[in-house]
Formats: sequence, C-alpha cells, structure tokens
Amino acid sequence: MKAVHDLWPRGVISRRAGAPAAEVEVRRPATYEEVASLLRSGTRMIPFGGLSGVVGAVAPDAGQVALDLGGFDRILAIDEVELTVHVQAGVRGLDLEQALNARGLTLGHHPSSLPVATVGGLISTRSSGQESTRHGSIEDMVLGLTVALPDGTLARPRPGPRSAVGPALHQLLVGAEGGLGVVLDAVLRVHRQPEAVEGRGWLFADVEAGLAAVREIVQSGVRPLVLRLYDPEDTQFQGIAEPGCLLVAATAGEPEVARAEAAVVARAAAAARDLGPEPWERWRRHRYDLSAERMLDMLEPPGAYLDTIEIAAGWRILPEVYREVKSALTAGSSLALCHFSHAYPQGCCAYFTFAGSSTDEEQALAAYDRCWAETMRICLARGATISHHHGVGQARAAWARQELDGWWPVWEKVRAALDPGGVMNPKAVGGR
Ligand SMILES: Cc1cc2nc3c(=O)[nH]c(=O)nc-3n(C[C@H](O)[C@H](O)[C@H](O)COP(=O)(O)OP(=O)(O)OC[C@H]3O[C@@H](n4cnc5c(N)ncnc54)[C@H](O)[C@@H]3O)c2cc1C
Repeated sequence: MKAVHDLWPRGVISRRAGAPAAEVEVRRPATYEEVASLLRSGTRMIPFGGLSGVVGAVAPDAGQVALDLGGFDRILAIDEVELTVHVQAGVRGLDLEQALNARGLTLGHHPSSLPVATVGGLISTRSSGQESTRHGSIEDMVLGLTVALPDGTLARPRPGPRSAVGPALHQLLVGAEGGLGVVLDAVLRVHRQPEAVEGRGWLFADVEAGLAAVREIVQSGVRPLVLRLYDPEDTQFQGIAEPGCLLVAATAGEPEVARAEAAVVARAAAAARDLGPEPWERWRRHRYDLSAERMLDMLEPPGAYLDTIEIAAGWRILPEVYREVKSALTAGSSLALCHFSHAYPQGCCAYFTFAGSSTDEEQALAAYDRCWAETMRICLARGATISHHHGVGQARAAWARQELDGWWPVWEKVRAALDPGGVMNPKAVGGR
C-alpha cells in the first residue's frame, strides 16, 4: 500500500499542510489480459504513468486501486517507410524521442515534462509540446490506439493513414484522463528530423506588437518549429534586462525551406530589435529546466504557493483576456508571468505562472484558490478555453461543465455507456 498522486500543486500544498494522501493498493500489470481482468473485477482503477500531471487527476481514494502502466515499456515498431511508431503506454517521452532520433526521426512532441511523462499520460491529458506550431499536439499524432475498455474488451488501432469508417472513436480517449479506459499502446505519426534549424530572438515594444507578429507569422502559412512570446515580466525572467517582450522563433526543415521561412519571420518582426541567435540557443539549452523537482522545491517552504494556468483564446480577444488575467494574478500573488506559445492561425495559448507566500497554510490555499477562480471566471466570461493542454482533473472540475455546456451531457452519457459500473478514474474530466 502506498500514496499515489500526481503533481497538482494544490495537492502538494494540502499534503504539506497536514492532509496526507490515501494509501492504496498499486497493481503493475505485465500483460494486456491482466489489465482486462483487473477491469472486469469491478474495482475502481486509477491508471497512471509518470505522475507528472498537474491537475489532480491521479488521486486515488482509499479502497481504489492505482494502476501502474510502467510495465508496458516497449517500443514495438518504428516504420521508417510509413513514418509511424507503435509504442506502449508506459514508455517515457524522452526515451521514445531518443530512440526515434537514433533513426533520424522525431515525434515532434516536446512538453517540458518529456523526461518523466509517458506515452499513455501524454495521450490521456491531451498534451501539447514546445514544437506544436509545426507538428501539432498529441491528437494530431495519434493514428490509432489499443485500449482496454472498462468491461475488459480490447479495441485495437484501425488501419491506414486515415479512415472514414465512422468517427475516429479512438480520439475519445485522447484527453479522457483515464475516465474511459486504459491506453495500452499507440500508433503515432512521426517525422524526419529537420536538416536545418534557424533560430533567433527579437525584442518587441509590448505584448500587443509581439502578438501581432506571431499572428502574422502563423497566418502567413509558415509553421515555425518554436514560436514563443514572453510578456515584459517573463522577458526579465528569461534574463533580458531591457524592457520589452522577447520573441524566440525557430524555423526548420530542408535548409532552403528553413531559411525562407526564417525570412518570413524576420519580416513579421521588422519593428522589433533583432537579438540574434543567442536567445534561441539559450532557450534550447534550458528547454526542460522546469522540472518536477524544481517545482516541488519551490513548494517546500510552509505558506508557499505556485502554479501555472494555460488557457487559449482567439486573436480578437486574446490581448484583453491576457490583461485581465495578468492583473488578477498580479493582485493575488507576488509573481505573475505569462508567455504565449502554441500559436494557430485562429488564436494562441497564454501560459501564466503565479507564485506567492503567506504566513499560514490556510491563507496560502485561499490566495491560491482565488488566483484560479478569477482566471477561470475571466476565461468563461470572455469566451476563452479554460485549458489549452494540462486538462481538467480536480483543478478545473468546478468549471469544466460550464465550458462544455451542451457537450457536458454528451460526455456524461459516453462515460455512462462505456463504464456503467464506474470502474474508471472518477476524478477524470470534471469528476463523476
Ligand atoms: C515540470 C512540468 C512540465 C510540464 N510541461 C507540460 C507541457 O509542456 N505540455 C503539456 O501538455 N503538459 C505538461 N505538463 C503536464 C504533464 O506532464 C502532462 O500532463 C503529461 O501528459 C502527464 O503524463 P504522465 O505520464 O506523467 O501522466 P500521469 O500524471 O501519470 O497521468 C495523467 C492522466 O492520464 C491518465 N493516464 C495515464 N496513463 C494512462 C493510460 N495508459 N491509460 C489511461 N489513462 C492514463 C491518468 O489517470 C491521469 O488522468 C508538465 C508537468 C510538469 C510537472
């Protein structure tokens, strides 16, 4: 028996304040049939991979079973002709990426948690990585899944690069947070590693000017490998002393394509100060520095609070949503940063970091909760999504229903139909 939980900062703070997590039985199946028979036993199963989730979706209560998928740790096949990989759910993202790199390939999925997160977790949280502007997010990579459904039946990947035989039902599991079944393996789309990468940094006068350039770049049809705009406070945090907003951009591909796309980026950034390649090189060196250990260290002192909230909005409302959320977080904490990445022709993700401390734990939790509630309220009022890539779990359970609106009963019915006995994770996507 042991306590099993993810890295939801509120959970970390609560445990620090004296509310320990429940001790539960942990099962680590070695075969798919074992998973199926565990599900048929009717006991509530909370699947987990790297436990790097940040929304409290892995938090089994007493009497429930934590299902460790770490035993499914094999890369089954890399197909260099069709550019696919067939990989089991427990494989860590970085191990997969390194195996692909050894063959000149890449998944193109680089969340900051890549060293820890597993394929099953990345799929189940609907994750998005640092190269999403070029390669898309996890839903764009998943061609097929092997899933153990709550009644113990196995559903296997469908054939072909695309299929019109009904809806892509496997996509229901992408973002289901362990609420609809257990992901056992996946067929994922991969890419050739780019021959050339051209990266540099620019300093914009303000967020509005930077966002206008990001929009121009993605709407021009260029798909940069990396495109990140930092607000003034986050720019200082990145080590740039001058006032302004840092844009880090890199284009990639065949050398002539990377160069041509870099020229389009430079044209969009004409009003900004060219900082040369150094900001890109520095970003690349530190791309995985935001580690779980660092986060836990920062949450160790009594009264400390810290979290990140990633939302997304269309271009028309994004600057306004940014300003309102930033001002709410600045009022509620001592550190409030924002960067924009995951840009689309239609809009962009805004990723906020806030931190503060209080003299007592109760006040720390209250201040933390206010930051969350204000951010969620602003997003729902303005028409932004309350999560771009971390998911719902417990962190957003109180607001998911409002965003899903008419889709909420659909989600509830899908869940009831697939899992009438309530075998799967009850804390997934808004709770059950
Ligand atoms: C420092 C840090 C940086 C991060 N950066 C990013 C980022 O850049 N982008 C991003 O998207 N996220 C990021 N995250 C969040 C987190 O890493 C992702 O959500 C990741 O996808 C979780 O993977 P995991 O294997 O750790 O899953 P876990 O935390 O173990 O589980 C997450 C959810 O998936 C379910 N689950 C896990 N495995 C399975 C399975 N095989 N079948 C069914 N359900 C399953 C669990 O029940 C739970 O609901 C970051 C987290 C940290 C701590």
